[in-house]
Amino acid sequence: MSEIKIEDYHKIKKFLDEKQVSLVAVSKTKPDSVILKLYENGQKLFGENRVQELADKYKRLPKDIEWHMIGHLQRNKVKYIAGFVDMIQSVDSKKLLKEINKEARKNKRMIKCLLQFHIAREDSKYGLSLEVARDILTTSEMSNVSIQGVMGMATFTDEQSIIEKEFKNLDSIYKEIKMQFYKEDENFKYISMGMSGDYKTAIQCGSNMVRLGSVLFGARH
Ligand SMILES: *Cc1c(COP(=O)(O)O)cnc(C)c1O
Repeated sequence: MSEIKIEDYHKIKKFLDEKQVSLVAVSKTKPDSVILKLYENGQKLFGENRVQELADKYKRLPKDIEWHMIGHLQRNKVKYIAGFVDMIQSVDSKKLLKEINKEARKNKRMIKCLLQFHIAREDSKYGLSLEVARDILTTSEMSNVSIQGVMGMATFTDEQSIIEKEFKNLDSIYKEIKMQFYKEDENFKYISMGMSGDYKTAIQCGSNMVRLGSVLFGARH
């Protein structure tokens, strides 16, 4: 069941608007009907973490929805979303960025990207180190990609101090990259961090883009 509460959406949206934080509504596993309900209430930015589901939803739903890919992306699947995806938040290797650039060029498009950093303690989470990111930014061809910021996920824990430390780490990574590579580029501006359980902490630590699923759509089953 998807129990979407529109009043809660508007409350959260207002809170985020006041802080100038962008909201990515994470609609993975949710049916078109609940996505449309948020859409009709003004939400135009949605995030998905699976290529097939993202491509299917794109085909069926209104074409002015901006779709963000937020999950791990295999290189051989970039072609299925390159024609329409607004932003890929999960760039976690040089080879992936190269493939995105290639497919974007085939489609005569620019694709916005965020560099995903590994900030959590868990091994399982994908992401770059600062060192690898610097290499990517120094050596990659980027004719058809626009790198607009960073993304990361904190450790899944109740310990607030750990989460805070990880978010502050991503904020400082953002600042270092900004200084070194994008000082004059106003498009490099996003720090995408914070999910349903930790978005308020993330905002306190510098986030200006949150990715919210369950707090908007109810729990996933
Ligand atoms: C599912 C997901 C979210 C949203 O998670 P919630 O806890 O439901 O808000 C955010 N970011 C990524 C990368 C996700 O896969």
